[in-house]
Amino acid sequence: MKSPSVFLVGAGPGHPGLITLRGLECLQRADLVIYDKLVSETVLEHAPPGAELMCVTELGKHHVDRYLPVQEAMVEAAKKGKCVVRLKGGDPFLFGRGGEEAEALRQANIPYEIVPGVTAALGAAGFAGVPLTHRSHASAVAFVTGHENPAKPESALDWAALARFPGTLVVYMGMSRLEQITQALLEQGKPPDTPAVAVQWASIGLQHTVEAPLGDLASAVTEEGITAPAVVIIGSVVSLRKQLAWFEKQPLFGKRVLVTRPRRQASELAHGLVLLGAVPIILPAVDIRPPADWTPVDRALTKLQAYHWVVFTSVNGVHAFMERLKVVDQDVRAFGTAKLAAIGPKTAEALEQYHLKPDLVPEKFQSENLARVLKERIKPGQRILLARADRGRDLLQKELAGIAQVEQIAVYSQVDAIAADSPAVDSLRRGEIDCVTLTSSNIARALIRSLDEPCRVRLESGQVKLVSISPVTSAEVRQMGLPIAAEAAEATTKGLLEALIRLASGNP
Ligand code: SAH
Repeated sequence: MKSPSVFLVGAGPGHPGLITLRGLECLQRADLVIYDKLVSETVLEHAPPGAELMCVTELGKHHVDRYLPVQEAMVEAAKKGKCVVRLKGGDPFLFGRGGEEAEALRQANIPYEIVPGVTAALGAAGFAGVPLTHRSHASAVAFVTGHENPAKPESALDWAALARFPGTLVVYMGMSRLEQITQALLEQGKPPDTPAVAVQWASIGLQHTVEAPLGDLASAVTEEGITAPAVVIIGSVVSLRKQLAWFEKQPLFGKRVLVTRPRRQASELAHGLVLLGAVPIILPAVDIRPPADWTPVDRALTKLQAYHWVVFTSVNGVHAFMERLKVVDQDVRAFGTAKLAAIGPKTAEALEQYHLKPDLVPEKFQSENLARVLKERIKPGQRILLARADRGRDLLQKELAGIAQVEQIAVYSQVDAIAADSPAVDSLRRGEIDCVTLTSSNIARALIRSLDEPCRVRLESGQVKLVSISPVTSAEVRQMGLPIAAEAAEATTKGLLEALIRLASGNP
């Protein structure tokens, strides 16, 4: 039997954690990912760096039936031996044309696998707190498409039967025809006081719900401005939402938070934000690149055992250093008896990934503290190597130079990365961001200097709030003339999230 080369994978309703393990496995080995517009960017990030990513809307732009080019692209790539993931919102076999796509693959003799996903109805039910079945309320549930025009005589949907259906109804794709749909159900005898709820953007921080009796739902939805993508849940189970809703009570629910860390390190903060109900918007203020010149680094790496201390001041520094060690054909033995210092727990963790145990990690993660504890440990005249970025604070070198022989090497370089025309900057300009997180003075400087006047005004006025990871970062921001709304008590991602929660609850 030939192994599958096309995987029809359900990406879930939007929350980045709601893809299955099997779906993730497939995605991680894809050569080509053809994804639906509703699939979240965070899910796409699991594709390997070299994979080709194609959005269905782009592929089908010039075609009457935009799904035909998708089928052609899948077949063509599979024939070339590529591993193709067709990533679909929710579940592939529920209102997603997954059936047609599988048929096309079968006809072309391409082996495939179907990986189910969490469909929007289940995402909405869970995240809006509406159990679709319940022993006291409903013993059945029907998933219905609202894309059908109920006024059309040839409609495939039997609204009379649906009005009598003894259980919960979930209507997909019903926003543009909600008035006709609710009308059809009411005319066929569904009581107007049947509890109902529309859930837009279920499972992510943008989730917006409107609850109203069936008779008033259409006008309530219009009033609240709820549009696609949304599902409507109709039935007495909706009344349980009052007690069971949980997601909307998350401390950062609905807050749009700008994450300015380099992409590779943004995921931990973004993940924490998602779990707290926020909407992370990733806008790396700096990009990590190789240093302009490897010569000084290589020179140091080939005589590492000559240093008494090697000091790391960032996770990036550790990875860049260790990667380069491989390039110059060395391994961890090159450190000899040199002692290792890390500025904080994350940097220490990065060293431990290479089975290196730091001899020194200060309790408070700041250059000042690292300098203070190092001073206590180093002996006069000892040789110290500082592995760091090409730009950053010079404090360590200055503090230690009087005592020891300090050599500083740039193992990576940081460049400003913000494009003024990016959608995230646009959101900031329009005041559609609630908070901006600043995770180092470097990042703060890079961000602030690349913002135009309208963006600056939002920050100056405090309309968009700046949240800083440490007193040093806060001082840098204030020096650039901008106010800090909250500051982490501990300079970690956790500390930053706690500061955001304090700010959201009104006592920063
Ligand atoms: N295969 C998908 C459905 C695709 S049809 C699934 O299983 O979920 C697209 C419709 O799905 C939208 O019009 C909307 O009704 C629903 N939908 C998709 N994502 C949603 C979300 N995050 N919140 C609410 N409804 C969603």
